[in-house]
Amino acid sequence: MSTSTTGKPASQDTHPIFEELGFPTDPNNLYRQTVGSMLHAADTMGLPHYLKIILAQPKNEIMVHFPVKMDDGRHRIFKGYRVQHNNGLGPFKGGLRFHHDVHLDDVKSLAFLMTMKCSLVGVPYGGGKGGIKVDPRKHSRNEMERIVRRFTAAIAHNIGPDYDIPAPDVGSNSQHMAWIADTYTFLSEIGGDNPAAVITGKPVEYGGSLGREKATGQGVVDTLIEMLPELNLKPEQCTFSVLGYGNVGSWSGKIFQDKGAKMIAVADHTGFIKNDKGIDAHDLAVYVTQKGGVAGYAKASACTKEEFYKTKVDVFIPAALEQMIQETEAEMVNCRVVAEGANAPTTPGGERVLQKRGIEVLPAILCNAGGVTVSYFEWVQNKTFQAWDLDQVDSLLNKHMIQAAGKVRVARKKYGCDLRTAAYIGALQRLQDAYEVRGIFP
Ligand code: NAD
Repeated sequence: MSTSTTGKPASQDTHPIFEELGFPTDPNNLYRQTVGSMLHAADTMGLPHYLKIILAQPKNEIMVHFPVKMDDGRHRIFKGYRVQHNNGLGPFKGGLRFHHDVHLDDVKSLAFLMTMKCSLVGVPYGGGKGGIKVDPRKHSRNEMERIVRRFTAAIAHNIGPDYDIPAPDVGSNSQHMAWIADTYTFLSEIGGDNPAAVITGKPVEYGGSLGREKATGQGVVDTLIEMLPELNLKPEQCTFSVLGYGNVGSWSGKIFQDKGAKMIAVADHTGFIKNDKGIDAHDLAVYVTQKGGVAGYAKASACTKEEFYKTKVDVFIPAALEQMIQETEAEMVNCRVVAEGANAPTTPGGERVLQKRGIEVLPAILCNAGGVTVSYFEWVQNKTFQAWDLDQVDSLLNKHMIQAAGKVRVARKKYGCDLRTAAYIGALQRLQDAYEVRGIFP
């Protein structure tokens, strides 16, 4: 398997469409970077101009401000977002991020990536994303419940089980999804539908699907098992490191370890740890749940950021936030493959360095598509009042992941491009086919 066979970067720092649509000029702007990668793929496959401009902009950008009473009796105003990027293939779909540093351009980028991911993995959804500018760690459970319920009320008219279906993302969890489902149900007219289908990632006790919590990690590992043999790597003999040990990082770690791989370095917002003899992924997950992060884990040694990145592994799984693998990190990484568990973890500059060094990147829109795929299964179960067993969920997820990986392989062969460009081509092809038969109203 070759690396970037064109030798061209997998994204464009400049493009005439940036000017046409008045994009931010800062090359570090995340939205510019993510759309740039798509436009590179669009140019490679010859996508018509009208589709490039439709997909380079979200359909709707909703911003809300809402007051919430704190435990001390004072009120605070919070800012919330919902960006609806595209619904050409089905309802808008995408997570809600609860983070103190969330901005409109981040949400736009993540919504855009959802459109691409849903298209590639073959689920009947468009893309959306949202969030609240809040640090959930700094609020009591009661405060978070009021914040989440009030945010739901603020966007209730803009979401719906057949229109826009949110889900968890960084900082949000199944309890938050339960409060959203309950609030939306309370606010909606009682009809024949199941209003709790407005959101996925709910607890299993309240309409959630078996296998949803681990789904993104499961999809990362399904992708690795599908793609590693082409790189002459045997999954069961791989060593790996993980950046971010939350939902995606910890489940990727646990499932990959259960397939025989060995985790030897982990990092999160609290610190960096390593142990060449192996770190038990299950044991570390329990520790992180109790302590809030990897720092202080006694069965591994604390290390520096540099030591973490320079640890020799076969697979590196970034599963934290966007833009964390820039040029500096890409120069330090010591692996054969980067499996993007997080969304947009690699900047275009970082990717150029990885390509130069012959490191393969399994792109996020393929690698982390397991979450939205099982969200789709949850939605189908809600709408048909069914409850599937775990084997059914896992095997259908695996089928979607294998098909998506197949599309990426075919596009790479046809266009001789890198995997990110190939993944975008796979996604864009399905969107183009749909737009061609639908046409543009009026
Ligand atoms: P999470 O909140 O469960 O975990 C986030 C992790 O990132 C935590 O371990 C945190 O410590 C770490 N982190 C945050 N800031 C960091 C920093 N500065 N340095 C190092 N580590 C840092 O979130 P998650 O749901 O696991 O999401 C992680 C990524 O995966 C995000 O990019 C998200 O958009 C993406 N994603 C999530 C899902 C899902 O189903 N949860 C699906 C697809 C993609």
